[in-house]
Amino acid sequence: MPERRIYLDNSATTAMAPQVLAAMQPYLNDVYGNASSLHSFGRDAAAALDEAHSVVGCAMGARASEIVFTGCGTESDNLAIRGIALAARRQRGFERGHIISTATEHHAVEATVHQMHELFGFDITMLPVDDAGCVAAADLRRAIRPDTVLASLMLANNEVGTLLPIRTLADLCHEHSVLFHTDAVQAPAYLPLDVNELHVDALALSAHKFYGPKGVGVLYLREGTPYLPTLTGGGHERGRRPGTVNVAGAVGAAAAMKYVMQERIVQAPRLCALRDRMIAGVLERVPYARLSGHPTERLPGHASFLFKDVDGESLLMSLDVEGFAVSTGSACTSGDPEPSPVLTAMGIPRDWALGGLRITLGYHSTEADVDALLETLPMCVDRVRRAALEML
Ligand code: PLP
Repeated sequence: MPERRIYLDNSATTAMAPQVLAAMQPYLNDVYGNASSLHSFGRDAAAALDEAHSVVGCAMGARASEIVFTGCGTESDNLAIRGIALAARRQRGFERGHIISTATEHHAVEATVHQMHELFGFDITMLPVDDAGCVAAADLRRAIRPDTVLASLMLANNEVGTLLPIRTLADLCHEHSVLFHTDAVQAPAYLPLDVNELHVDALALSAHKFYGPKGVGVLYLREGTPYLPTLTGGGHERGRRPGTVNVAGAVGAAAAMKYVMQERIVQAPRLCALRDRMIAGVLERVPYARLSGHPTERLPGHASFLFKDVDGESLLMSLDVEGFAVSTGSACTSGDPEPSPVLTAMGIPRDWALGGLRITLGYHSTEADVDALLETLPMCVDRVRRAALEML
């Protein structure tokens, strides 16, 4: 284990805030009733759950009744896409129906959309993106068909940090009676989220990405949105997500939402400055390096790079040895590295795309952390490049 350890992988997960843990504590032992039970134990749990719905809803300009607690961000995406597309197709009497998304979505969306095609017979269009990962409104407009029921486009890309103009894209969809879902999992720690300003019909979040507990997701479902519960069982969460609700988790998600609403006002500009310091420093010090994602329309705290002729996974391990936790974009299967589909969709050539690195800063990140990485990274890149040359 290295002497110092610096965590720069906040897009993967965040450390739970102490006040979140404190808020959850009573519901992990003392208040253990099932929120569906009618007796006082159940009513105590139900009261906490009601409050959690209100807090999370209020934080996003939504009603408490429009908030559904789920098991994770992936589940929220799955329930939204499957549930809305199937219900809207049935409601509008289409035989097949059509769904629009992009190749740069997180697997939670991308794999679900593909399954909608393979298993449920929907036609799908995966929109192209430019070299910064942006979707053009004109491409979306062209893709919309009379039988398009749903578009799912992410608010902030997890891999390259690019932000999409969700309001514009959602408005365009609504003009053509197309419902709109957004995966906003990466956003709450950094950006204000208002479902009315965004004008979305459904939105997915995950508490562990904003200093809350793991295993708790949030699904916002606008009232009146066609929705078929594709997880079947009891009537929990107003029949939209059956299964005994994780009350402690919901309370934790609500406490985390309160925490980030307070903190992000100060943290977002601070993290933008730290991110820009990181970007400038890396591009200045490391030869054959470039930024991936949009240069300005990107998440605060999110710095992602491409290093030519570098194996991203080896670089990650080299940095790990030096005590830095970061992440890579490429998925390595059985020793055969494949460039990430996100970078491929952005048209990044393979010799750059295999060297993707993501550095994501969080509320605990400091200037000293950034400078320490800037000191070490050039050496690690050089080491990995040399090792690759020696293998030739
Ligand atoms: N969507 C995005 C953009 C993500 O970054 C992630 C997690 O990395 C998810 C969805 C899935 O969230 P969870 O880990 O809660 O399933």
